Amino acid sequence: MNKILLIGAGAAGSVVAKKCLQLPDIFSRLHIASRTLSKCRKLQDLSPHTISISQLDADCTDTVYDLIKEQSPNLVINMALPYQDISIMKACLKAGVNYLDTANYEPKDEAKFCYKWQWDFHEKFKEAGLTALLGSGFDPGVTNVFCAYAQKEYFDTIETIDILDCNAGDHGHPFATNFNPEINIREITQRGKYWDNGKWIETDPLSQSRLFDFPEVGEKKAYLMYHEEIESLAKNIKGVETIRFWMTFSEEYLTHLKVLQNVGMTRIDTVKFNGQDIVPLQFLKEVLPEPSSLGENYQGKTCIGCLIKGKKDGQDKTIFIYNICDHQDCYKEVQSQAVSYTTGVPAMIGAKLLLEGTWNKPGTINIEEFDPTPFMDALNKYGLPWKVIEYGS
Ligand code: NDP
Repeated sequence: MNKILLIGAGAAGSVVAKKCLQLPDIFSRLHIASRTLSKCRKLQDLSPHTISISQLDADCTDTVYDLIKEQSPNLVINMALPYQDISIMKACLKAGVNYLDTANYEPKDEAKFCYKWQWDFHEKFKEAGLTALLGSGFDPGVTNVFCAYAQKEYFDTIETIDILDCNAGDHGHPFATNFNPEINIREITQRGKYWDNGKWIETDPLSQSRLFDFPEVGEKKAYLMYHEEIESLAKNIKGVETIRFWMTFSEEYLTHLKVLQNVGMTRIDTVKFNGQDIVPLQFLKEVLPEPSSLGENYQGKTCIGCLIKGKKDGQDKTIFIYNICDHQDCYKEVQSQAVSYTTGVPAMIGAKLLLEGTWNKPGTINIEEFDPTPFMDALNKYGLPWKVIEYGS
């Protein structure tokens, strides 16, 4: 009998809940806690005997700790926002329970996307015999596991990793983000950065682009940007020289973003409005479509994968390891779009592997540090099948 405390009932959190409900032998009870109780109630209606709910402010460690003590879960799955990572981790540590998330901690006042704050908890989690599984979404998450699997099965040495994230879908809105707008826009408007021969190279935001021919999706322009998994992969994939992250955007998306930036709507500092303090980006989030509302009319596919170059038996080798996900298939299964689906399914799989004891390593552990094989098997089984193209030398 396993009980999960799921924090965050948004777009991706809802997918986690629905995928957990499909495996009642593993996830026998769920407590769902989020800022807005009505969103938890919608999920509870799916299975009132399995799911209990409560309203929660996860910014407060003591409040999260009290809820953990009350509910006694075997694992806390954090599907709230990166701002809450540390308060939830502290509560888990104090209460003696394992932790899982899909995005690294962010301070509210500065876009940093770095693991330092969470890695600082490594010794404490290790001493307590607890695991904090970091980055169990798609990217970070599946892309990290693709790299670990490539290292295990395809290469003696990996030289270059290009993570390619393509959403070729159309949701029908002139402008909307596929996951939390605040986090999404912070991520895209920050300076670009990639890992090259032991050092970071910085670039102006979205200043470099390249055409890639994506399987099943076709040729798309992708832009170089910083993404948090580069930091942990640089540490954990031994000998890797270059790691870059590329994401596709439509011209329409980029034009809207440029205008919003130019008029100050993406600012994350506080401004006075009618005597009140507001953060422009938080206000913008309130007027944009919620990512969880995009699924019904979303057409098309995502293709996310890793283009990896290295050596095997002395020969040069290149592979592309990837997943294709169809927005409408996701909607039919769990009433979500593919970006939430590709985040929620890996979170459920990471949780399953921890609960079964298949993955067991105390500390703050990035997902690529575990054996990738059981996770890769589970991706095929639970909705995110992957393929490998081998290009030879
Ligand atoms: P949403 O905004 O849809 O969901 C976030 C949920 O967290 C909302 O329900 C929100 O409540 C709740 N929440 C926010 N603050 C608090 C708080 N202080 N206390 C309790 N609950 C809170 O975002 P997504 O579902 O799109 O994203 C969820 C997470 O997944 C994010 O961290 C995001 O970065 C990550 N992500 C990871 C990806 C990956 O591949 N690794 C890809 C996409 C997302 P309310 O409803 O009231 O706003």
